[in-house]
Amino acid sequence: MAKTPLQLPEKLAQIPRYPILYPHPSPIHPLLSLTSSTNNRLHKTPQISVFTKREDHSAPLACAGNKYRKLEYIVPDICSKSPKYGHHEHHQEADPFPGPVTTLVTEGAIQSNHTVQVAALAKKLGLKALVLLHRGTGGGLRTARDKHAFLSTGNVQINRVLGAEVQIYAEGDPMTEDAEPVLQELFSKGEVPYWIPGGASLHPLGALGYARAAVEIVHQEKEMSLHGSGKFDFVFVACGSGSTVGGLIAGFKLLENDGMSCTRRIIGVLNSPTKPKTYHEQRVLSFARRAGGLIGLEPERDIKMLDVRLEDRFVGTAYGVLDSETKVALETMAQNESVILDPVYTAKVARAMMHWLQEKEISNYAEEYGLEHVNVLFIHTGGQAALGAYDLDVHNQDD
Ligand SMILES: *Cc1c(COP(=O)(O)O)cnc(C)c1O
Repeated sequence: MAKTPLQLPEKLAQIPRYPILYPHPSPIHPLLSLTSSTNNRLHKTPQISVFTKREDHSAPLACAGNKYRKLEYIVPDICSKSPKYGHHEHHQEADPFPGPVTTLVTEGAIQSNHTVQVAALAKKLGLKALVLLHRGTGGGLRTARDKHAFLSTGNVQINRVLGAEVQIYAEGDPMTEDAEPVLQELFSKGEVPYWIPGGASLHPLGALGYARAAVEIVHQEKEMSLHGSGKFDFVFVACGSGSTVGGLIAGFKLLENDGMSCTRRIIGVLNSPTKPKTYHEQRVLSFARRAGGLIGLEPERDIKMLDVRLEDRFVGTAYGVLDSETKVALETMAQNESVILDPVYTAKVARAMMHWLQEKEISNYAEEYGLEHVNVLFIHTGGQAALGAYDLDVHNQDD
């Protein structure tokens, strides 16, 4: 736990934030078994220490995960008398958004973690929540043996327990492309629905939370007195809708702009083969630049495509499908570290990271900077509630 308060860079400190997370940083702890198995295999320099930052322990609200951090910077807009960003991204007219908001509306895959965090936040703010879930997103439902269970347990159940209205849409339903009619209907009933895009990444303020998280990590690095560079040289994090890794890139850039010697490698691990890596790279770059502009960077000059490092070799067969290698990573973390991952994002990140720990890239980096010791951070973004909807015995059958 932090001994000194978190000091935010000036511009970031001025941006309104509604505290959802605990007032202290989410914990970072070593992954001892992974560290020793990595070093046993390498038995040479560099020594590698592996840590995890527990974003699943970041907030007191239901099913804590990375979305609460993003939402901290969105709540001030939700609660303002005249919100700026509540319209759907397809909303045509230039009419101003009419406050005050009565309902939060968002969407996701059937076992979306994001929707649960929005629903929990809505309740906390005294608002209604409408959650739109899409059957066709990814392969989780398609490969589930018990489809009824997949559609009604895990995060779906938690959404309902939280009192959200849940609407489930079939594959190909026009609503899955454009939820504007749902919002219009709510307006016509006298509600004021505030739209939060899937994963909150397309929201103009969506990447700020992880820019702040980067400041938090640097603060924790100092208090931990790490070996080697004294920093987390490699940071592995899931990349889904993209503003988590985008925000981190912007936040670390802001702090590294002051001429520190070696730069951290932020590796965004993709989890879906649906869209090519270049699509995600463009999005992450735009989220990083948008956040960068808000926190005082010169976006085009300071954040380059070279800063965006995405890993697409471990996406598996489909979004939301636990392929057999990913299942091994999930079980390894459970049985060696007693850390439970989620089947959609963090298990794929762990698998990718375990692969990287054996790769030359890390030792090349150590050589480049003359380091005998390299520190690696795995960001646990949450999502374990989805695990309850997965039957691991059958979900590991590849698509
Ligand atoms: C949403 C989510 C992610 C992905 O974050 P993005 O910002 O959408 O890239 C990763 N892990 C978990 C558990 C999530 O729920």
